[in-house]
Amino acid sequence: MTDIVLATDLGGTNMRMAAVSRSGEILYRTKESTPRSHDGDAIIEAIVRMGTECRDNLVGESLVAVAVAFPGAINSDTGKISKAPNLPELEGVTMSEVIKGHLGMEVIFENDANAAAIGEHWLGASQGVDNSIMVTLGTGVGGGLILNGEILRGPDGTAGEIGHINVEAEGVPCGCGSRGCVEQYSSASAVVRIAQELAAINPESELNKQRDLTAEDAYRIAMKGDKTASEVFRIQGYYLGIMLGGLVNTLNPEIIVIGGGAAASWELFYPPLMKEIKARCYKEPAERVKITRSELGDDAGILGGAKLGFKSVGHSYAT
Ligand SMILES: [Zn+2]
Repeated sequence: MTDIVLATDLGGTNMRMAAVSRSGEILYRTKESTPRSHDGDAIIEAIVRMGTECRDNLVGESLVAVAVAFPGAINSDTGKISKAPNLPELEGVTMSEVIKGHLGMEVIFENDANAAAIGEHWLGASQGVDNSIMVTLGTGVGGGLILNGEILRGPDGTAGEIGHINVEAEGVPCGCGSRGCVEQYSSASAVVRIAQELAAINPESELNKQRDLTAEDAYRIAMKGDKTASEVFRIQGYYLGIMLGGLVNTLNPEIIVIGGGAAASWELFYPPLMKEIKARCYKEPAERVKITRSELGDDAGILGGAKLGFKSVGHSYAT
């Protein structure tokens, strides 16, 4: 009998669940579109439904916990979700006990970028490294800080929200209520907005020929040599470099791992990012830090969630 955690990646569009063993092997996977309702009940029902499906397909295995990585912050004392800009119906909701009542096992929630940091630390790019920063470039910019081998959450669960570090004093307004946050310049959504803005003033750019422009389209066009499209990714890397430069000086990390869909434009944003780090940081931490791509890709959050799930039930196995 193998111990299993049902690790869930709860996104604004899709939710994925995977049955993960103690060694990090994925034994079963399932996926649904994220259902929306005013109070989060539909999401709870979906987690229970997916958990039941996993259980039905893993007869004979020992299911020990459900772990949910989600795009928001959770108060670690109360278990209440305090902030979830992409799933606002979950704000103020405490879901763990309800899911536990249905599935009969421990349920833990974790911010998705924190979970990705823990996943990369367990089985990916930052294995064996005590001080690392995870950056996720998706709809927003997420972050997870592992310091002295432990994830930093803070009492309100907002530690590591690096997407809302200011990089432009009077810059673009942000959904968090501030303005000029790096999320407004370096996320996948920001790449699309900047591409549209630059296309409008550069009529010769091939960006103008693309309907329903995505970050992937802008990347493809830039790789063909379109100067305006290339400028989009220089801007993405420039602001990311300003933000990470501040963190390199502040936290002296050994490694920074960059993942998420918008990390696909790595070769375009990496040079301007490094230029800013070299220009802005103390020499020693800038030379020490290794900046690298995620090794686990989409599974980083799932595997990190699984690791936390095993940790949460660890004591009951030791006694
Ligand atoms: Zn913000």
